[in-house]
Parts: sequence; C-alpha cells; structure tokens
Amino acid sequence: MQKIGFIGLGIMGEMMAKRLLSKGYQLVVYNRTKEKLGKLEDENFKAVDLPAQIWGECEIVISMLSDSTAVESVVYGNDGLLGSVKPGFIHIDMSTISPSTTKKLYLDYKNRSAHFVHAPVLGSRTQAGDGTLLIFAGGDEEAISKCEEIFKVLGRKLWRFDSVEKATNLKIAMNSMIAMMIIALSQAFVLAEKSGISKEVVLEVLENSALNSTMYQNKGKAIIEGNFTPNFYVKHILKDINLSLEIAQDMKIPMPVISAVRELYISALAKGYENEDYSAIYKVIAELAGLKI
Ligand code: NAP
Repeated sequence: MQKIGFIGLGIMGEMMAKRLLSKGYQLVVYNRTKEKLGKLEDENFKAVDLPAQIWGECEIVISMLSDSTAVESVVYGNDGLLGSVKPGFIHIDMSTISPSTTKKLYLDYKNRSAHFVHAPVLGSRTQAGDGTLLIFAGGDEEAISKCEEIFKVLGRKLWRFDSVEKATNLKIAMNSMIAMMIIALSQAFVLAEKSGISKEVVLEVLENSALNSTMYQNKGKAIIEGNFTPNFYVKHILKDINLSLEIAQDMKIPMPVISAVRELYISALAKGYENEDYSAIYKVIAELAGLKI
C-alpha cells in the first residue's frame, strides 16, 4: 500500500491519520508536539523529527494544521517541506486557511515543478474518523486525480476546482454559515428559556420543521447536556470569521451579520472559552441575557 506523509495530529488530524492507517496506508508522520504521536498506536507509521524528512520516503504529504501560520511554518520554516520538494511531488493541505496563503503556496510549489492542492473539509471529528468528510479540492487537475484514492478514504464526496482559491473560499463560506447558525440556535434557546419553554421543546419544533438541521440537533443536545468538550474550538471558528471578513473586504462583499457575530466570539475568548467547543457561544448569549449557567 502507498506510503504517504501526514502532518498535524490535532482533533481532526488524529482521526484522519487513524482512518488512513485502518485502510492500510503506511504513514510517515510529523507533529510539532511529539507526545501526540502516542495517539497513533498502529505499527504502520513512522515518526520524523522534521517536515522535510517526509520527502525522503513519500511523494504525497497531507497537512491538517491550525491556521495559515502553522501551514507556512511547516512549508517555509527550517527544514520545511518546500526546501527539499522534488518535481511532481504533491502537498495536500486540508486545513482552513486564508486564500492569500493558499495562492502563495500554490505558486511557490509550482516554481519547483511540484504541486500544492488545497482540500479543506466540511465535517468534524466523527466524520474524520469514519471517512465521511466533504472535501473541496482545488489545484492542478493532474495532482487532484493522483490523490483521488486518498480522498475516497477520507471523504464521502469530493468537489474539484480548477484553482486553490475556489476551494479555500467555499470552505470559508460554509464556516461563516456555521458561525451564524449556532448563534441563531443559541438566541432561540435563550428566548424560549426566558419565556418558560424548555430547550428540548425548541429542538422538537425544529425537528418537525423545514428549519431543522443535523447541526442544530447535535449541538442543541450537547448544549442541553452542558457538554462543551471541543470538536471544533471557539478559537478556530473565530479564525474562520476573520478569514470571511478578509475575503469580504478583498471581494467587496458586505457581511454585516458576520461582523456583529465576531464580537460575540471575542466575548467568548474574554470569558476563557477559547479551547471549548464553538457551541460555548450559547453560554455567552445566555449570560448576556442574565440567565444563570
Ligand atoms: P487542532 O486540534 O488545534 O490541531 C492543530 C494542529 O496544528 C496540531 O497538530 C498542532 O500541533 C498544529 N500546529 C499549530 N500551530 C503549529 C505551528 N506553528 N507549527 C506546527 N504545527 C502547528 O485543530 P483541528 O480541530 O484538528 O483543526 C485543524 C484544521 O482543520 C483547522 O484549520 C480547522 O479550522 C480545520 N477544521 C476543523 C474541524 C473540526 O471540527 N475540528 C472541521 C473542519 C476543519 P501541536 O500538537 O504541536 O499543537
């Protein structure tokens, strides 16, 4: 089975790496914090100390990292990927990062006759683990085709785009919706509670209406249980809101709602919810409305 590189064992990366190992791929893995390598018990992986060492054994590497700074550090840093990439090699980044970064990475790899594919994903820890992510892949057609089998293991549907920016922007558009939807649910919960109606009734009504979504039901149940264990951090949704506003300014798209929503996520940071699930935004809205959590 093919040997591929894998960089980043965070919430998503750990599950994606385990999925690839379970399907027989051999992995060469780099993670900044070495202790996290212990999460992969499977014997079919080899750890390396530096990103560049991956190219010694693999022609394709996947990265799943926090943000643009993290991806740039494994590419441009000391012993980063770009320094020793060979013609034809492929770096697939699946993180949610800025379009200016993905465009620069694409061009810098191209200058070395190599490929950069941006393939961000929709779905979270569960979907990463069972291979049902939705994948938006942008870049050179030839490189995307070579990675198709890998995408089939990680995702249940693939959308291909002829530029990295299209894939990047679609992911950011989706996440701007997530950031707003959880606020809509939280506000409805708080309004109902202050009227003496339970959150369970709100979810039941949603379930029977055209407004329903799997996200409302899953996050709604977690909010009811008071379970804010992170699947997707508050700090990362705020990153994505900032990316939306960056695109909005560049493309001259007014996004007044996402600007207002950003203030609530900044309050979540101020309250210390940075490393909780983004549904912790419910607590911010409830507290502003004078409810006791
Ligand atoms: P995470 O748990 O915070 O993991 C981040 C990873 O990035 C870790 O491996 C971390 O390494 C590494 N990292 C951070 N800064 C670094 C740096 N400067 N240099 C090298 N490595 C660095 O994040 P996640 O939830 O897995 O998300 C990963 C990406 O996928 C993010 O862009 C996120 O927005 C996106 N995403 C997340 C979800 C979700 O539901 N969680 C869904 C779709 C997309 P250390 O172990 O050393 O800290």
